[in-house]
Amino acid sequence: MARIAVIGAGMGAMAAAARLAVAGHRVAVYERTDTYGGALRRLERDGFSFDTGPGLLPLPAVYRDLFVKTGREPLEECVGLAQVDPSSHHVFADGTRVSLPNASRAGVVSALEETLGPAAARRWGDFLVRAREAWDRSRRPLLEEPLWPNWQILAEREPYPAVPHKKLLRTRVAGTLAEVGAWELRDPRLIALLESHALAYGLDPREAPASAAVLPYMEHAFGTWYVRGGLRELARAVYERCLARRVEFHFGAGVAGIVEKDGRAAGVELADGAVAEADFVVAGVAPGVLDRLGRGTPVRGAGEVPAQRSAASRVTVLLALRGGRPEGTPHRTVVHTEDRETELESLFGQPAGLPARPTVTVLRPDDPALVPDAGHEAVTVTTVVPEGGGGAPDALAEKLVTVAERAIPGLRDRLLWHEVRTPADIAAETGAGGGAVPAPALAAAGGRLLHPSNGTRLAGLFTVGGWSHPGGGLPHAGMSGALVAGLIVEGPEFRGSQ
Ligand SMILES: Cc1cc2nc3c(=O)[nH]c(=O)nc-3n(C[C@H](O)[C@H](O)[C@H](O)COP(=O)(O)OP(=O)(O)OC[C@H]3O[C@@H](n4cnc5c(N)ncnc54)[C@H](O)[C@@H]3O)c2cc1C
Repeated sequence: MARIAVIGAGMGAMAAAARLAVAGHRVAVYERTDTYGGALRRLERDGFSFDTGPGLLPLPAVYRDLFVKTGREPLEECVGLAQVDPSSHHVFADGTRVSLPNASRAGVVSALEETLGPAAARRWGDFLVRAREAWDRSRRPLLEEPLWPNWQILAEREPYPAVPHKKLLRTRVAGTLAEVGAWELRDPRLIALLESHALAYGLDPREAPASAAVLPYMEHAFGTWYVRGGLRELARAVYERCLARRVEFHFGAGVAGIVEKDGRAAGVELADGAVAEADFVVAGVAPGVLDRLGRGTPVRGAGEVPAQRSAASRVTVLLALRGGRPEGTPHRTVVHTEDRETELESLFGQPAGLPARPTVTVLRPDDPALVPDAGHEAVTVTTVVPEGGGGAPDALAEKLVTVAERAIPGLRDRLLWHEVRTPADIAAETGAGGGAVPAPALAAAGGRLLHPSNGTRLAGLFTVGGWSHPGGGLPHAGMSGALVAGLIVEGPEFRGSQ
């Protein structure tokens, strides 16, 4: 039995902790705030309840696996998991609206055929087939296996199939997601649909590789899921599973440094100076925090995938509305920007900021647990902003509410109160500078969108969560927990468990 110190109680760290405890190790989690879940927080006020982090769960198989491997009750017995159908409703710049059914390629193609016409629908259907190929080629190395030592292959090889496009005398193939949209989808609404998947993770579609096609594919193939009571319930369930496996939690216990002895990690030093000795240390924190904890000893070597330093953040406006949620309201509506160029220039240009009319996601869950009674509705409106920024909270709220009115007519008349969550709030909850939110690992792009491996240069020190392989997002962070547990239990030969 080894002693394992886990830094942070985010989802990746807790997933690792539960698995390591089941493998017979003594696991202690040190969390600097007073609660578990990292980004998965909840705001409660006047009988309303809101998720302030992610509001939907992609790829629930990752958490199903965690629950199967760590105890008797499956995930479905620990949380109320519900498919979101339609998966999303879209309001495009020209006013066209379409609802896309959950996890059905045929259903999506037929919904697009009705609104955008048969040619556009066929192009999207064909695109999904190619996206599936990219997923099949990259799923194992980019989700299910530890980062390959020869990760350069992933950095160089584009898994999205090449479709030759003739222009004058030249033949080109799409290298970026924007080029996939422009050359293979062509309809501005399909382009907006495609690019919104990259944007939702804070990625610039003009620079994201074509392999980012796996993001819409994942949603179409595995569906979009909601956890009753809000996504914070998933964090609660994972926390309780850890407790059931005798993982010890220390809250209000910020780690100030990683203790090193004879060239290996030997424990953690807490902010109050106390030292907790351990045989392994698992750090579920952002790269800037890890650097500080390393106290000048670099934990990554030359020739490794560097930590992702720049990432986008989010602004979320929580809206308490009078009047019940109308029957048949889509759970998720994406209101697309009316000016793509300005949006991308504002978000990813210099100086970066939030455009006047950003693409926003409006979540309106059909969940009585979130409201004081049936005569009220709890709505969250989210958009991507540059890390650390976006503007003053009131100005941000005004922009988001103005856009959200396209999804919720009469919104302002129904508004009881609102709260704004900025990148500073995210930074306070996760410790990531500027409130940066990591994106999932993607192939190609010269490795720019890969994340550092879970093993480090310091023997006995592993990294977990959204800032390490295989990157950000709930399923990816959950997988990082499985990978770290595998690497500690089985050693460096571990090649993935799925
Ligand atoms: C607003 C928002 C929206 C999001 N939307 C989505 C989405 O739609 N889909 C999706 O899949 N993902 C989304 N994400 C990302 C997702 O929530 C994370 O990638 C996922 O929760 C994984 O988190 P993590 O394991 O990296 O831990 P984090 O959530 O980053 O938590 C890190 C933990 O470490 C603790 N910590 C930091 N420093 C120390 C220290 N020195 N000592 C002790 N503890 C420390 C922090 O307090 C925190 O609890 C969103 C995130 C945010 C903030």
